[in-house]
Amino acid sequence: MSRIAYVNGQYVPHKDAAVHVEDRGYQFADGVYEVCEVWQGKVVDMPRHVDRLDRSLTELRIDWPMARPALEFVIREVVRRNRVRDGIVYIQVTRGVAKRDHYFPSGDVVPSIVVTARTADPRLAEKTADTGISVITYPENRWPRVDIKTVALLPNVLAKQAAKEQGCKEAWYFDADGFVTEGGSTNAWIVSKDGVLITRPAESGILRGITRAVVLDLVEREGISFEERPFSVDEAKEAREAFVTAASTLVMPVVRIDDSVVGNGHPGSVALRLRALFHTATDFMAV
Ligand code: PLP
Repeated sequence: MSRIAYVNGQYVPHKDAAVHVEDRGYQFADGVYEVCEVWQGKVVDMPRHVDRLDRSLTELRIDWPMARPALEFVIREVVRRNRVRDGIVYIQVTRGVAKRDHYFPSGDVVPSIVVTARTADPRLAEKTADTGISVITYPENRWPRVDIKTVALLPNVLAKQAAKEQGCKEAWYFDADGFVTEGGSTNAWIVSKDGVLITRPAESGILRGITRAVVLDLVEREGISFEERPFSVDEAKEAREAFVTAASTLVMPVVRIDDSVVGNGHPGSVALRLRALFHTATDFMAV
């Protein structure tokens, strides 16, 4: 079956899907995106993702490409047409196509929108979660507005590539004070030596992850001992457990940070419990 992409009002074969060479996303990274999990044929937490898309668009003063219900329909339709049962759906909106010029284009330029979806084998993710992943630490070098989910991901690309070249899956950024901010494409969590789950507050230095928000709901529901505060690289290396969260990986245990083994080197019980419970706290939208 051939893949289908939605590009500016049309469903087209994925292999032919294209945007104009003067799209501002292409030339200036002047755009925003979302990634939602597709689980058992349902788009997970779509309202929260679309709310965050709305916030990103507002912060960058990019117009909505279409009415919200229409976008939600397109998202589900792309998942349906690609027959994705488990995987992800990707939504990208840019300021549109205009003669290259740093200033915002005049009012008649319409935003560009692309929606794609792809299947991912959930068994592979489970296999990874069974053993856990390793992360490197990496000096924070991104702009301060990481709360906006922009497509300007070059620092993240370089950090994650550095991780890959060291046999790791993720890079954990640390700020000038030695505190972990977040991963290149995930939020970061630890369980301290005395069993308290800790993650950095969303006020600064991180993207307000949707998976993070769902896990926070779970933590409250399950009565798990929790503190929202910054934690340092040193504290993380001495932690009992560590894990990352993102729509594409859900709750993923971390078993090594640089050269330090976390806990006993195996995925921790809090991470595995939250992973197992994750879908009991999400909102589903059937495709
Ligand atoms: N932080 C960064 C930098 C990300 O790119 C992502 C996801 O892409 C996340 C955190 C996790 O966000 P979410 O849980 O909404 O996928």
